Amino acid sequence: MLSRIITQANIDHVEKWFEKAEKIVIVSHVSPDGDAIGSSLGLWHFLQSQDKNATVVVPNSFPAFLQWMPGAEDIIIYNKYKEFADKLIQEADLICCLDFNVLSRIDEMEEVVKNATARKLMVDHHLYPGDFCGITISHPEISSTSELVFRLICCLGNFEDITKEGAECIYTGMMTDTGGFTYNSNNREIYLIIGELLSKGIDKDEIYRRVFNTHSEGRLRLMGYVLYDKMQVFSQFNSALITLTRSEQRRFQYAKGDTEGFVNIPLSIKNVCFSVFLREDTEKNMIKVSLRSVGTFPCNQVAAEFFNGGGHLNASGGEFYGTMEEAVKVFKQALEKYKDLLLAKK
Ligand code: 5GP
Ligand code: MN
Repeated sequence: MLSRIITQANIDHVEKWFEKAEKIVIVSHVSPDGDAIGSSLGLWHFLQSQDKNATVVVPNSFPAFLQWMPGAEDIIIYNKYKEFADKLIQEADLICCLDFNVLSRIDEMEEVVKNATARKLMVDHHLYPGDFCGITISHPEISSTSELVFRLICCLGNFEDITKEGAECIYTGMMTDTGGFTYNSNNREIYLIIGELLSKGIDKDEIYRRVFNTHSEGRLRLMGYVLYDKMQVFSQFNSALITLTRSEQRRFQYAKGDTEGFVNIPLSIKNVCFSVFLREDTEKNMIKVSLRSVGTFPCNQVAAEFFNGGGHLNASGGEFYGTMEEAVKVFKQALEKYKDLLLAKK
């Protein structure tokens, strides 16, 4: 049995909203990851099974290794179909906000969602949920929003209606937000849920291959280059840094998602408990910052304090507006400031 973590009041409330809703839009965060797409499609498949009219809209495109997911071809990419998406959002009577806690995380969609007259429901697992939804289901102790979607559907009494396709999406989000169940994954209930998803007929090994083992040759060579030439280890701070410029990305025919996971690799070095990856963005004039930590080191604090960002204790991100040299300087300032915490045991 799963513990009932979503309050009964929230479940009753969502049930009423789903019953009444005729035009539902599901939105998730910019640069959608496996959990953003997995939770959105997981909920979408469920709403389809209830004969509801629902559409998933995300701010921008997502990587090829997520495009196999059932229903992915029906997702509306906001910055490609803005007018159509604006209309959907304005006419919706329910907007489900999945895997983000503040409206700034949906980028260009922020204004239209903020001004929409629809009821708004948040299902998310980031700390400090903003106050923009009539129902806020926020559980930072749960490792993925996809898991929350599974729990919500079960609490609504609809486990039977989860299809194999929906289960595949939910599993993908649970898997990607835990690095294939290698971090944030000690809650035994995760494995009870996986058992239930397997009962729907999913092939978890195949899902792993599709997500993690279908990369381009360019990505692997880029990884080799980055680890050999670009990774700097700051042993005196138990930390590592990787930087990547636009011209380097061009050299390796960079495609969206190609650097996914790079930030985790330095954590496999003994004693390294904090890793930062700085990448010049190819779409926007900024440096995308990814931060990861092992143990109790709060990389979300560093993200918030130095890089206009936030996220989870062990996985966070942000944006830096300035040159790469300046970003590296700021990173080094962060190391100095957090030296004591960094030197606490891994
Ligand atoms: P990633 O490094 O995979 O892009 O992001 C890891 C986590 O950091 C995300 O799941 C999200 O919680 C958080 N995150 C990433 N980018 C940002 C950002 O720009 N702002 C905030 N507040 N959080 C971010
Ligand atoms: Mn997530």
